Amino acid sequence: MTNRQLFLQHQAQTSPAPVGVEISSASGNYLYDTDGHKYLDLIGGISVCNIGHRHPAVVNAIKQQADQYLHVMVYGELVQSPQAQYARLLTSYLPDSLNCVYFTNSGSEATEGALKLARRVTGRSEIICCNNSYHGSTMGALSVMGDEYWRNAFRPLLPGVWHHRYNSPGLIEAVNTNTACVIIETIQAEAGVLVPDAAWLQQLRDRCTATGTLLIFDEIQCGFGRTGTLWGFEHYNVVPDILLLGKALGGGMPLGAFIASHGLMQALTANPVLGHITTFGGHPVCCAAGMAGMQVLLTEKITETVTEKGLLFISQLQHSRIKAVRGIGLLIAVELDSQAQVMAVLQECLKAGLFSDWFLFAPECIRIAPPLTITAEEIAHACNILTTCIEKCEVSNT
Ligand code: PMP
Repeated sequence: MTNRQLFLQHQAQTSPAPVGVEISSASGNYLYDTDGHKYLDLIGGISVCNIGHRHPAVVNAIKQQADQYLHVMVYGELVQSPQAQYARLLTSYLPDSLNCVYFTNSGSEATEGALKLARRVTGRSEIICCNNSYHGSTMGALSVMGDEYWRNAFRPLLPGVWHHRYNSPGLIEAVNTNTACVIIETIQAEAGVLVPDAAWLQQLRDRCTATGTLLIFDEIQCGFGRTGTLWGFEHYNVVPDILLLGKALGGGMPLGAFIASHGLMQALTANPVLGHITTFGGHPVCCAAGMAGMQVLLTEKITETVTEKGLLFISQLQHSRIKAVRGIGLLIAVELDSQAQVMAVLQECLKAGLFSDWFLFAPECIRIAPPLTITAEEIAHACNILTTCIEKCEVSNT
């Protein structure tokens, strides 16, 4: 049996039509398949590979840590230098109030931990979140997901969860002294890249402070330089009580985190003790890899190139069939007429050596979230392929 047959027969499938390309290797801004094709990666494993695939510094850190120790004990008992060192590095690039890191295995698990922490700290149970938001696929995260189609089949979900329109005054008005937390993506990704108003975020911050509600920013997708600043909230000068990280946090390895003040995090140590448990969260190899990745991002000053690269995409994506291009930094949505057209264009792009995707809640948009290391020449090449494929699909559609 081929690997593709095994994949289809023995691996759980989540899509009726998976891309199904068999990867042989990945390096820098490219993926390679077993048939000898090379693909320029426009999505970076969905905002994970911000410094490109298999950066040598990350690979070395993994090898070095593998030579020391792998898993030794569940999270939070033994001192493991990769966790301690990475927590220090992360918090040194965050405001003082975000000085305590809980490492998890994934973004979803960071969401779960944050929701639990908010309930535990406030003694309240109600949660406010946004339409078209994505915070993960586990039960708590699913409850705050902003789309009825994906939620409905899995009810009953968490009670006391209220969804409101992102960036709307109604969301702020709904926050009251029964609200444990408000959870939002600082910049909504799966909604097709929605950027909030600075004034709205500030008012939301003020309302949360006034009502004793914890404000959670999910930067699992928009953190780590993706939007042109290290953290998305730097665009707005608004600091959350809890910050969620994931994806690029692990430098290509599985790692998530929820970050809050030491004072808030203390709530997980008593009544009950072990208020959040994970066996593998903060795996030493993942922390070593993530820290090496973040150091590359910082020392190579990659974030500083992101805004300009995003503008290159926006200026070169000109075609009568493109209805809109929305974006911030290298998180960009290219809106076409329909989901069907997006799917056709993505197929054509793949044949032309360009790998891209769509957005969960905006399937009429093509996703552009490449490694932040993409070059100006590669951007020009990608835009050329995209517009050619859009043109081609226009012809075959009419
Ligand atoms: N929050 C956001 C904004 C995300 O984009 C994602 C993943 N797409 C998650 C949470 C969940 O992360 P994970 O898939 O690692 O559980």
